[in-house]
Amino acid sequence: MRDVVVVGSGGGGPVVAKELAGRGLDVLVLEAGARHLRPEQEWTRLEDDANNPITGVLRVGPSKRSETPWLRDFPQNSFVWQIAGVGGTTLHYFGNCPRPPAGVFAGYDGPDKAEYDTAHLFPFGYDEFRPYLEWVEQTLPVQTAPMGTKEAVFFRGAEGLGLEHQTRKDVRGPAYRAQENCILQPQGTAGRTNDPRQLLYPDAQGCTFCGHCFQGCVEPRQAPRNLKARRSTDNSYVPMMLTADAWSQGGKATELITDAYVVKVLMSNGEARGVVYRTPDGALHTVEAKVVVLSGGCIENPRLWFNSGLPNPNDWVGRGLTEHHLDWVFGEFDSYVGSSRGAGSNVRCDFPGYGGVENVCLPPALQSFAMTFSDSGICGVYDNDSGVGPQGADTLGRLVGNDLKGALSKVDNLLTALVVTDDDVQADNRVTLSSVLPSDEHGRVARVEIQHRKRTARTRRNRDFLAARAVGLMRAAGARAVHRMDWAPLLLHVQSSMRMGLDPATSVLDSDGQARFVPRLFIADNSALANSAGGANPTLTSQALATRTAEKIFQTWFGGDPWVQAESPTSSIDDRVTAAVLDRGL
Ligand SMILES: Cc1cc2nc3c(=O)[nH]c(=O)nc-3n(C[C@H](O)[C@H](O)[C@H](O)COP(=O)(O)OP(=O)(O)OC[C@H]3O[C@@H](n4cnc5c(N)ncnc54)[C@H](O)[C@@H]3O)c2cc1C
Repeated sequence: MRDVVVVGSGGGGPVVAKELAGRGLDVLVLEAGARHLRPEQEWTRLEDDANNPITGVLRVGPSKRSETPWLRDFPQNSFVWQIAGVGGTTLHYFGNCPRPPAGVFAGYDGPDKAEYDTAHLFPFGYDEFRPYLEWVEQTLPVQTAPMGTKEAVFFRGAEGLGLEHQTRKDVRGPAYRAQENCILQPQGTAGRTNDPRQLLYPDAQGCTFCGHCFQGCVEPRQAPRNLKARRSTDNSYVPMMLTADAWSQGGKATELITDAYVVKVLMSNGEARGVVYRTPDGALHTVEAKVVVLSGGCIENPRLWFNSGLPNPNDWVGRGLTEHHLDWVFGEFDSYVGSSRGAGSNVRCDFPGYGGVENVCLPPALQSFAMTFSDSGICGVYDNDSGVGPQGADTLGRLVGNDLKGALSKVDNLLTALVVTDDDVQADNRVTLSSVLPSDEHGRVARVEIQHRKRTARTRRNRDFLAARAVGLMRAAGARAVHRMDWAPLLLHVQSSMRMGLDPATSVLDSDGQARFVPRLFIADNSALANSAGGANPTLTSQALATRTAEKIFQTWFGGDPWVQAESPTSSIDDRVTAAVLDRGL
């Protein structure tokens, strides 16, 4: 009998595992996908090789790339961008770690309190949550992003909008700022040369400004795994959970099994008591545990719940999926912006109650994808009647022909902005089981329904407001032409499909992160979030919540004391972690 079994090793699972292993519990992590132990050898920077959702090394599918990916059923034109494997979707992420606004938490009484999704607040206050944010910020660690030309251009535009420059970590009002991100700052030769021979660890440390965050971070080459620049969990929490005995007195190293797809949660006397997982040879394995933690992400958690036949008395399992109702605005400039250089997303504007606008720079194939993925049709040729306006942009919809070629051929003269909406929890945005696609080897597959054209008035207001601000920012920065894409649904930030909440009628989890209907079953990843975190990139919030959930598990089921208020965290770049990583070949 294990103390704890954790399902999934993406953004959330390794956080719970690391915290509880650090307290000496016997933790097993089961991951459906691959573990990339030698990414410098296993990964290329070629975009199709890395990112192709069918054949790429970073996809939702089995370790063997010759095998078909795991499919989901989308009744609308959309796509969920996730990754199976150790690190999960953080293998793609940009490491942006903004704090959520206080207005999405219970008890908020600021002048803008009515602006938020007040029916779906976190079931505790922001002041209670802040220490968990700080704990994760020190563990990863989170630092202020370095600035370059594209950041200076973005700042110029934000100042032109009349926004305040924010230097605090807490979000308090409309403002612009450098991102807080979990990318180690450049040191030594890093950021000073493009010569790969000079960019080897230890001469180079931290971000080498390679511009390939999306393809998985291997920089600086020859660095120990926990000293790679971008703090995806494969480089931060996973090395820590595997070496908990080395950096924590009384800690116990977590066991990790990959290519282990959990197909069932086991129950006994109405409580969770373990899981069954399947290995690629078709064998089924049973693990018994005192506590089960689901961290399989927003799509797979409800799928596993339904396939396990777990209770769903209020019909909220899988409901309430938020995804920041993203959009994309870009400006064409006459002079150099440098959009293909350096870390992808170093600057942002926050508009509490509405969401955020952040600069996001992409490698070329993804850049052209982002500039052509529209729900509004082809500008000047046909109109999809999506109901969205240009909000002051010169064009709405995707560019084609010479217009597109012209923009893309001067990619370093573009400034791009991702609109990240604070969108409402809607019961009809949901994950169920498909009755259209055949089952795969793990059971019935997930169906993801997004009511793209039936958003609440507040969600639509927020997205249009942010798109207008992004257009204004481009103009104030000096753009010659500005384009709004009106993205079709692209689910990069998925949240809240197994939400915690104050109201038992509209939530799956209680305020401890424990399932209301199944004692000893916890959820710790983006799906546990109560709402869309106010439009903040969600992972820091999820990881802080996972830390809090780990404490609750330790207190409730193992008789332990909480630690976050009483101690200081160990950093994932601590020398003891590095020594154990090197010693054990991790
Ligand atoms: C391009 C891109 C950029 C992003 N940038 C940012 C950013 O800058 N900042 C930010 O905050 N967020 C960012 N995100 C979002 C971020 O990646 C997610 O918030 C985060 O990864 C979510 O963590 P998770 O644990 O919920 O899910 P995931 O990271 O998707 O992890 C789930 C894991 O569980 C495994 N799993 C699922 N089902 C099972 C099962 N049945 N058995 C065993 N294992 C299972 C999966 O294989 C996977 O490894 C970005 C996302 C994308 C796509």
